[in-house]
Amino acid sequence: MANEQLFTIALGLTEPWFVKNILFDAEKHRLDLEIDFHVGAKFECPSCKRTGCSVHDTEKRTWRHLDFFQHQAYITARVPRTACPECGVKQVDVPWARSGSGFTLLFEIFALTLAQNMAIRPLAKLLQIHPDSLWRILTHYVDEAVKRMPLSSLKQVGIDEVAMKKGHTYLTVFGDLALSRIIFLAQNRESTVIQQFYDFLVAKGIDPKQVEHFCLDMWPAYLKGLADNFAESTIVFDRYHLMAKANAAVDLVRRQEAKERKELKNTRYLWLKGQANLSAKERERLESLSHLNLKTSRARRIIESLRLLWNCKHYDQAQLFLKKWYFWATHSRLEPIIEFAKTVKAHWNGILNFFQSPITNGIIEGLNNKIKVAMRRAFGFKTYRYLSTIIYLVVGKLALPTRY
Ligand SMILES: [Zn+2]
Repeated sequence: MANEQLFTIALGLTEPWFVKNILFDAEKHRLDLEIDFHVGAKFECPSCKRTGCSVHDTEKRTWRHLDFFQHQAYITARVPRTACPECGVKQVDVPWARSGSGFTLLFEIFALTLAQNMAIRPLAKLLQIHPDSLWRILTHYVDEAVKRMPLSSLKQVGIDEVAMKKGHTYLTVFGDLALSRIIFLAQNRESTVIQQFYDFLVAKGIDPKQVEHFCLDMWPAYLKGLADNFAESTIVFDRYHLMAKANAAVDLVRRQEAKERKELKNTRYLWLKGQANLSAKERERLESLSHLNLKTSRARRIIESLRLLWNCKHYDQAQLFLKKWYFWATHSRLEPIIEFAKTVKAHWNGILNFFQSPITNGIIEGLNNKIKVAMRRAFGFKTYRYLSTIIYLVVGKLALPTRY
């Protein structure tokens, strides 16, 4: 078999395409494959797909292909432009590359596959391409896959925020709680992100009313956005966020009291851990502190009892429990606890809705940890466009091409 014939088969070329020439430069570590088409071949118009168009003229183009052993490989071809009676003169689509790209499909899919597990900068280096070229490949395939993402089964959505840079800028992530994947990202955490999500669903032909439940923390901007756009959906407040707020109230009591009570020095973590998570030694320490008639002990008892709310078996039982708890908390004479109890009162229904629809954002929290890893992989490229691309790539469960 001639080398040209071997490469024609290896590249999967079919009529009228064939490998015409092979140029190998060992010193430059470069293999060039020249592809051509047989004289008299007819092509499909890239716009209207009419077949049998004759060639008007050609234009020489080059694509980077998968490496040939340790050598970079390039494909060159004179690409025909067809003269279509309907559409005029158009360059045809070649089977080995998508229009506009300087890489073959196999090269792009290889890069895409590695990018799901590698940091961007070292990957670009490994592939010997510019990081911008790598990003162009990734954004193209991710955008396409997001467009095709099926959402017909979407019913329960978790909303959460992720810090983008240290502390100050936030992204909002929307997750499908049933399929545990991120389905939408927004650039900040203002109420308008909910409208953006609404528009995203509509653009994909999904009736927003299809979303039965939203699970989230008590961030007012999200609540406003939901009231404006998803008035018919049910809100369930995430129990873990609620308990985090409860713990913050205990910590506030401790900090105020610590000014007068030296025993409270360096005990922050003790009060914030759930009873079940304490070591024997920590439990002993807490026990000894609890004999000192501390406000902090009292605050902790009130908050620990709130944890029992989630043992309730049904809505009515939970409502009764919460009413009693609220009475106790508001009569505690502990300002931070009273404030927290008022927050509970203001979000009463959304807290109790859990007992009709027991959903939490635990899944989203887990995805958020993966998002943080993904963002580290985009190190040095912290624009929103790049971050959203890499987040979708890692936690979007997208249907990406694995071969062509
Ligand atoms: Zn045409």
